Amino acid sequence: MDGKLIILGCGGSAGVPAIGNWWGACDPNEPKNIRTRPSIALKTKDKLVIVDTGPDFREQMNREKLGAPDAVIITHTHFDHVNGIDELRTFQRQDKERTFPTYGMADTLKSLQAHAHYMFQPSENGFYRTVCVPHEIKLGKNVIENIPMQMFEQEHGTMPTLGIRIGNVAYSTDVKRLDGFAMETLEGVVTWIVDGAGYHNRSNPVHACIEEIAEMNEKIGAKQVFLTHMPPIMDYKTMVKELPDNFAPAYDGLAIDFAAA
Ligand SMILES: [Zn+2]
Repeated sequence: MDGKLIILGCGGSAGVPAIGNWWGACDPNEPKNIRTRPSIALKTKDKLVIVDTGPDFREQMNREKLGAPDAVIITHTHFDHVNGIDELRTFQRQDKERTFPTYGMADTLKSLQAHAHYMFQPSENGFYRTVCVPHEIKLGKNVIENIPMQMFEQEHGTMPTLGIRIGNVAYSTDVKRLDGFAMETLEGVVTWIVDGAGYHNRSNPVHACIEEIAEMNEKIGAKQVFLTHMPPIMDYKTMVKELPDNFAPAYDGLAIDFAAA
């Protein structure tokens, strides 16, 4: 299955500029520094799958002129990945029969249903309908909306997150470390989009730094590494100058072709 992976957002939990119009080290005159919260879209000729529905979900979907997704995958339940999930109800208002298969690991679904229970069950008075239908992801091969994907668990300090390989492209948001299964799954991928929010700080307990990513990639062997989840300390042009040759910062709206079998 061929398609496009679109970076809907590559910002950290606060986005850039963060609230208070805080740009940090980011140059406000560089459009690629404008970053919404982390999310991607997987678009094939007739299907659309969204990975994470953060606080900027509405803005991201409208910016990329995307319609209702066929399915949603949630990597983990930190607010910057789930707090826009209510926007799915607006798609349902445009088509009352519509529900959204919502995929995640068992604990993610449990936590999501505790956080947004009203999205998973109709209200007692019948006014609100069920919007999200939970589907548990098993590690390894899954096929979602005809797109074959390899799922793996990632270590993120406070909770595990879901990593996804779609053929020649992989998405590893919110990761500090990878176990053997994750490394094996990623081996040989061509393009790896990975959380680099640790930047130069190896002691960041929840996000990998550039050095750690480079060490992991010695084994994985991705030809192109795109950083995501970038906080205001990470300026686009500064990174372009200082990153290893095959590394680059992602930017909102970047589209990458994938081919998955
Ligand atoms: Zn997180």
